[in-house]
Amino acid sequence: MNAKDFSALCVPVNCTVAEALATLNQNGRGVLLVLHPDGRLRRTLTDGDLRRAALGHVAGATAIGQLPENPPVTLGENATLANALALLDQYQIDHLPVVDVAGRAVDLVLRRELSQRIWLSSPHLGEEETAFVEDAFKTNWIAPLGPHVDGFERELAARVGVGHAAAVSSGTAAIHLGLLLLGVEAGDAVFCSSLTFVGSCNPILYCGARPVFIDAEPASWNMSPVALERALEHARRENRLPRCVIIVNLYGQSADMDALLPLCERYGVPVLEDAAESLGAAYQGRASGSFGRIGVFSFNGNKIITTSGGGMLVADDEALVIRARKLSTQAREPAAHYEHVETGFNYRMSNVLAGIGRGQLRVLEQRVEQRRRVFGIYRDALADFGQVQWMPEPEGSRSTRWLTCFTLEGARAAQRRDRVLRSLERHSIEARPVWKPMHQQPLFRGAPYFAHADGNDVSARLFEAGICLPSGSNLTDAQLERVVDHLRRALLLAEDGRAAA
Ligand SMILES: *Cc1c(COP(=O)(O)O)cnc(C)c1O
Repeated sequence: MNAKDFSALCVPVNCTVAEALATLNQNGRGVLLVLHPDGRLRRTLTDGDLRRAALGHVAGATAIGQLPENPPVTLGENATLANALALLDQYQIDHLPVVDVAGRAVDLVLRRELSQRIWLSSPHLGEEETAFVEDAFKTNWIAPLGPHVDGFERELAARVGVGHAAAVSSGTAAIHLGLLLLGVEAGDAVFCSSLTFVGSCNPILYCGARPVFIDAEPASWNMSPVALERALEHARRENRLPRCVIIVNLYGQSADMDALLPLCERYGVPVLEDAAESLGAAYQGRASGSFGRIGVFSFNGNKIITTSGGGMLVADDEALVIRARKLSTQAREPAAHYEHVETGFNYRMSNVLAGIGRGQLRVLEQRVEQRRRVFGIYRDALADFGQVQWMPEPEGSRSTRWLTCFTLEGARAAQRRDRVLRSLERHSIEARPVWKPMHQQPLFRGAPYFAHADGNDVSARLFEAGICLPSGSNLTDAQLERVVDHLRRALLLAEDGRAAA
């Protein structure tokens, strides 16, 4: 709720029963917060309380302060959604005022919101998926092979403008295969963007290789070319050039390939492009995911299109893709008796899921438009909040806005970020911090890290101050309005907290 809506809920202790009734009628929420002059919550006042007063012949001119006492059930500002639900159930009530440490009313939680959770990014099916899946059943192609797997590979490769594609069980599996195809072995160094999801770099560990993390740059939030250059130069001097560089395209936006690719080329290091989050995006007019020697996509449930779980490895070099398909099906040699000479994996995508993927691919462009629209709605609705800085979209880049993200400018960003997230969470709105950088993860303690500049750790700062908002392509206007209302209130509260701290 916004500041105006919230103040429409509040009445002073000295207001009369008649005035309270009029305010209640206007706000339409069925509840009022009765406040002491210093803002502390004295009680709540519901329709029922006022009806009982009328039945007891309390005069309309009576001050609310004279009604029978009814100490309010309240929620602390740091309470969780589970705390809120427990209190609502325990006291059989439908609204719960939120108070700060001084007992001042700052927010109101409604039961009806809590049963209608708004997700960060939920699956959004089109109209053709069921037809493809039914076809898989009808033709008994339920195996991890079949016409939809071939069709999905062909159609995705065409959409991205890459020669060949291999459909696999996840984006992580595709990255693992990609590293093996590029010759990564135990002990090798592999460079990777630090600001990413762990799925980008867990496969480095599967190979027994050593990750080296590269910072982000402010302009795209993706890999910093200056940090990459320093890392490459350092590796060359040590005579330990990496076997490959994993460049991640974050939150639906391509990295600055014109700056990054020539560097990798100069040092002779191939690029694996992690486009798990950027299917549908473009960079200088070319599809994201088509820039690396190998590109990788994910169709996990939260991605812009989904097969419930799945991934794709793409490359122009057909030999690489043929080898990916072989490794993903237990590395069988061409012999009827199952001959094996190397380690394989069970990573192939099933024909049923590929059917879903074909249906989803047909609505990809709509999904991009819808996600960009969600971003536009947030940006316009919060234009008056100077502390909100949206993830930039550099010239020449077309982001899908897979997730709408912003940072909070100013001091104490991490505390303010947490307050905003807590406020949204108690209204059952799923928002999250920006990815915690890999160089700060206990899993990768001790891994070398190259910051954007000396004393300027960009990914750490983006993590500290960054928030991802609900961004699904299937969010309704009413849901978006609910997020905006609560976000405006949450931002005001977070700024208040700064003044108080
Ligand atoms: C989702 C994701 C992955 C992993 O994909 P899965 O299909 O979930 O295994 C890898 N990298 C990034 C950047 C991702 O967002």
